[in-house]
Amino acid sequence: MPTARQWLLNGHPRGRGIEDGDFELVETEIGTPGGGEILLKTLYLGFDPAQKGWMENIADYVAPMAIGDVMRGSGISEVIESNHPGFAVGDVVTGSTGWTEWHLSNGEGLVKIETALPPTAMLSVLGTTGVTAYCGLFKVGRPVAGETVLVSGAAGATGSVVGQLAKIAGCRVVGIAGGEDKCRWLVEEAGYDAAIDYKAGDVRGQIKEHCPGGVDVIFDNVGGSILNDMLGEISTGARVAICGGISRYETGSLPAGPQNYFNLVFRRGTMAGFIVLDWAAEFPAIRKRLEGFVHDGRLTYREDMQQGFENAPTTLKRLFSGQNRGKQLLKL
Ligand code: NAP
Repeated sequence: MPTARQWLLNGHPRGRGIEDGDFELVETEIGTPGGGEILLKTLYLGFDPAQKGWMENIADYVAPMAIGDVMRGSGISEVIESNHPGFAVGDVVTGSTGWTEWHLSNGEGLVKIETALPPTAMLSVLGTTGVTAYCGLFKVGRPVAGETVLVSGAAGATGSVVGQLAKIAGCRVVGIAGGEDKCRWLVEEAGYDAAIDYKAGDVRGQIKEHCPGGVDVIFDNVGGSILNDMLGEISTGARVAICGGISRYETGSLPAGPQNYFNLVFRRGTMAGFIVLDWAAEFPAIRKRLEGFVHDGRLTYREDMQQGFENAPTTLKRLFSGQNRGKQLLKL
């Protein structure tokens, strides 16, 4: 009967960054699997900026989190014992398994990992990250070959996949990221046509320079002043896909609307937010397509692997300081 270390929620970080005291490390008896249950050992955790929103209870598309809950998050686990007809000992599964070393499950929401790629791909390029990039770009952004696509948070896990998918669709692709090193990676490794370093300032001027004909599709992960600058440069009929707003994550409230939103009227543009879970039924087919792109060399992805369960809070914080290089993961 294993004892599991677990990270519990101990604070709601509204209006500030995540602090160490927002989590509490405890040891819990897990028990043995009953009828229809499996015992899972966590192998990897995946990290997403949305986890901070869940801690704050700012979003209503997921259940609220209470103090004392096991921190919610995605992971990859191995089945160690099984009383469930659908899972055998040794199966490797992914799902919202939470920040716990071990846990019991009735199998609900778990997907068996069946890919020729390393299993962690199910948290990165084939996971929520990859399908978010795919759905946001193709269902909301709807790029057409020859158009210009502009991506914020471009060197991140989602943004780097968006840019490559837009290249596959035949578009010119420009990315916005923080720092020379990330911008160089975007152009040299991720296939972006040009990159804009927002930390160098004058984002609007840099967009004008790299998108002289205007921007047809915006894929926004960041919000705030970067979204405002992007909206200032849209072309007629532009589509703006709002994926995330990481620049607001350390403020207490949702951001005010961008001043340049009226450009949507002058340019007959549309702006739409999305929650990728709405297309969950299509995920298996989308994963197959993404895996095909990886196999034929058109899609590359990066994973940033940290080590040690005790480092889960520190690893989450890396997303908000731009330290992560690709999908943020942790190996237990
Ligand atoms: P990520 O982009 O790999 O990591 C976050 C990146 O955000 C950092 O590396 C950093 O890059 C940038 N960043 C952090 N603080 C910033 C700030 N104040 N201003 C500008 N950029 C900042 O994370 P991800 O997992 O791929 O997630 C990307 C976005 O997708 C998030 O907003 C997430 O919530 C969203 N998402 C949405 C859905 C949906 O259904 N709508 C689903 C999944 C994810 P720099 O160094 O370039 O600043």
